[in-house]
Amino acid sequence: MYEILGKLFLYIIAGFILILICVVILAIVSYKYNKTIFPKFILFFIDNFTNIIKKILKVLGLNERILYQVGIELRNKINMESFRKIPPKDKIIVLPQCIRSIRCPARLDPKIGIICIKCGLCKFKEIKEIAEKYGYRIFLVPGGRFVERIILNLKPKAAIGVACLKDLYRAMKEVNKHGIVAIGLPLAKEGCVETLFDINELIRLIINTEGEHPRPC
Ligand code: SF4
Repeated sequence: MYEILGKLFLYIIAGFILILICVVILAIVSYKYNKTIFPKFILFFIDNFTNIIKKILKVLGLNERILYQVGIELRNKINMESFRKIPPKDKIIVLPQCIRSIRCPARLDPKIGIICIKCGLCKFKEIKEIAEKYGYRIFLVPGGRFVERIILNLKPKAAIGVACLKDLYRAMKEVNKHGIVAIGLPLAKEGCVETLFDINELIRLIINTEGEHPRPC
């Protein structure tokens, strides 16, 4: 009896490892060829077995950033349809404060983050004007606590986040757990100061979602 149970246990473990290896292969295919295969299935394993998948990637000599990148892309694909259906007034955009110029003259509000005075030293001025024209509320924040506070206060139904790969993957996962439809745009250049985001991609995302012309709010 114990022998049968022992064998069964080994088969289950072997099956589980096999599934994880398949997930890693599918994730690598998604990453390399920009093709998404079984998005919900892969994302489920990425979300729930992150550490094991990271170890498998390490054994294969691959960077764990693949996991975050694929996680973000899959979540974007899965969420996009729902995101489009939500009106802009229920959507927020959150960018990290590291995109600011080091000479940024704006002050920090403890509730909503940086109060941009549109000096034009960074791209936030431009994206703020466009996003607000489309009815989005847009924030520049120093960290996750601010995002939580904004979400608690405004109760948005959807959010576009811009951040470094790892933070973005984690934030999208967290936000999704609270029923908020999350779309992510990784920073084009990561770091601590004067990081870069692809403003054209963000504008494209807004226009593709809301249409060429802003709807009256
Ligand atoms: S545009 Fe706004 S956020 Fe950017 S540097 Fe000027 S005040 Fe700061």
